[in-house]
Amino acid sequence: MRVLITGGAGFIGSHLAGDLLDLGHTVDVIDDLSTGSMDNIQHLTDNPNFSVEIDTIANVEKLEKMVAKVDLVYHLAAAVGVQLVVERPLYTIEANIMGTKYVLEACDKYKTKVVIASTSEVFGKSLDVPFREDGDVLLGPTTCSRWSYAASKMVDEFLALAFYQERKLPAIVVRLFNTVGPKQTGRYGMVIPNFVRQALEGESITVFGDGTQSRCFCHVEDVCRALVAIVDKDEAYGQVYNLGTTEEVTINDLATRVIALSGSTSEIKYVPFAEAYSADFEDIARRKPDNTKIGNLLGWAPQNNLDQILTAVIDHERSKQPN
Ligand code: UDP
Repeated sequence: MRVLITGGAGFIGSHLAGDLLDLGHTVDVIDDLSTGSMDNIQHLTDNPNFSVEIDTIANVEKLEKMVAKVDLVYHLAAAVGVQLVVERPLYTIEANIMGTKYVLEACDKYKTKVVIASTSEVFGKSLDVPFREDGDVLLGPTTCSRWSYAASKMVDEFLALAFYQERKLPAIVVRLFNTVGPKQTGRYGMVIPNFVRQALEGESITVFGDGTQSRCFCHVEDVCRALVAIVDKDEAYGQVYNLGTTEEVTINDLATRVIALSGSTSEIKYVPFAEAYSADFEDIARRKPDNTKIGNLLGWAPQNNLDQILTAVIDHERSKQPN
């Protein structure tokens, strides 16, 4: 099979590209390197079944030509990371909504199967935990720029489902919960790479808010295994799936575990959300998926627990440090 990954130089996309190549598929990538990096895919560039175009998906002519050649598209190109979203809401809205529309239109031309990567952020502040795909969402006011990300991804989901319904485009929506693992950059605010770097450098671990907020962190390997498997399931098309683990941890506990597992002497420093992000910032108190739907579809369950993930990230970051 020949596969196109938009955003294939990103953290998840590059991992997925490696997995698909290992399975014998041909992989094309388009990435504008806005948050992705050549470092993520350098090890793949010698593979004759791999090719990469450094360009934006807003180059519709090129995008269409690339889509014409493949059997399947994973659309992962998006503005990601809370920090980036808060700082650049205009870019976030445009990149996510227009980008997804271009991809869906190109796929529609050839009726190419497409997986649209959405996000658990769409559940917003819902108190209906664990979040089910058919549960209500609860976003904050438009004056809080964080929610522009959730709203833009909701439009992406509506678009994908509308293309499925009205144009018979085989599209699947996957809501990715916090996805982590070695090689993830902390540049866009993600908590685990930040905590691990701080712990290894003996800096204070910056817990935002009071640290009682919780998340479920899933290993990128487990996420990619599900992304690969889901496209073979006919019944998945036209559907929305949560993809994440149910092992829940508070950010306080996460900080403590990173310190313990890395043998660090770092202390925890509490930083108010207003200082960490912006004055109007709202965080999500609890985020946990109900992953029954994808579990039933694929017989999928995460194989890595949080301590294994943290150990892998710590080992990876240590291997990068000069001796
Ligand atoms: N967080 C933190 N310190 C950091 C980065 C993030 O305490 O240096 C918190 C953040 O406020 C959130 C959680 O960790 O409550 C997860 O943040 P991340 O940006 O990784 O993902 P989110 O779940 O917010 O999309």
